[in-house]
Amino acid sequence: MNITVDEDKCCGAGQCVLITPEVFDQRDEDGIVVLLDAAPGEEHHDAVRESAQVCPAAAITVDEDA
Ligand code: SF4
Repeated sequence: MNITVDEDKCCGAGQCVLITPEVFDQRDEDGIVVLLDAAPGEEHHDAVRESAQVCPAAAITVDEDA
């Protein structure tokens, strides 16, 4: 799994951080997403998929084959 985030799309809603704090964080100054781990372990994959699904800005892309 390989994750990318689009900072230009992100609206700082923080849903991804609530669901997968091991992988996503937010910048202190404006709440824009910070990707902590682009290739997280298997144990985080379900939560990462959920984060991508609930992101209101569709700013998280998950490449399952990477
Ligand atoms: S859920 Fe989406 S919009 Fe919200 S902080 Fe995460 S990437 Fe940004």
